[in-house]
Amino acid sequence: MNYKKWLCGAGILIMGCMLSGCCMSHEWYEATCTSPRVCSKCGETSGEVKGHELEEANYQQPATCTECGLTEGDVLQADYEKYGIICETKVDTEYPFVNKCYDNDELTTGKVIFSDYDVFLSDDVHEERDGYEWRTATATMIFDDENANEYGVGRYSYSISDYYDIQGANESWNNNVFTVNYNGKDYTEATYEVEVLQDDWVGDELIINLRFFISVPVGYDGVVFWLCDSQTRSLYEEYMNAEQELKVVQSDGTILFRLK
Ligand SMILES: [Zn+2]
Ligand SMILES: [Zn+2]
Repeated sequence: MNYKKWLCGAGILIMGCMLSGCCMSHEWYEATCTSPRVCSKCGETSGEVKGHELEEANYQQPATCTECGLTEGDVLQADYEKYGIICETKVDTEYPFVNKCYDNDELTTGKVIFSDYDVFLSDDVHEERDGYEWRTATATMIFDDENANEYGVGRYSYSISDYYDIQGANESWNNNVFTVNYNGKDYTEATYEVEVLQDDWVGDELIINLRFFISVPVGYDGVVFWLCDSQTRSLYEEYMNAEQELKVVQSDGTILFRLK
């Protein structure tokens, strides 16, 4: 080997490197969403920009890059907002509830009050469920006018609905178990149960007390308890599909209480 020649070659290589600004060993910063990889020593770049990894928008978050957190656009529109359905019912406030009488088509004007709204992880009868919490409130209905006393109170109805995705909850419904989507994830084990604490006449007042318990993902504010009068009740038979449910929650004869 010609040692002199080799040295000379190395010299040219080093010279060349110095002129072009490259370093002997680059130290690369990884490429990011908006930049290719960059040498921390000399600033040289190589490769390609990674681009954002956008995860689809959901009801709580707009489309979001999983790498850098950049967001784009809006959250998905909740069904209740899309259809202009207002539910601002507050606790400890009386709302009129007009229902048909039992014996005839006369109307009785009762009232309904929601109270004791609570969110908890477990109690004596409701066990803690991984990733879920319990939301509960009491609905008290009172009928005490002349027509109620004379002709009784006809059939009304109640259940729950999903503020964000009416159809999703409706179509997944199976024996009071249903699915809600929270932060882009489907929770398939949401549950609904009602205890009728009271349903009888006390003097000339018919008092109905319902306590409902709903198990939803921790932090989920989309369940709406609804109570509809007998006129609205006639919009569906025993079961209601999503279309009928939309009509029920849009009806003036329905009181909506969002567990929020
Ligand atoms: Zn470098
Ligand atoms: Zn990004």
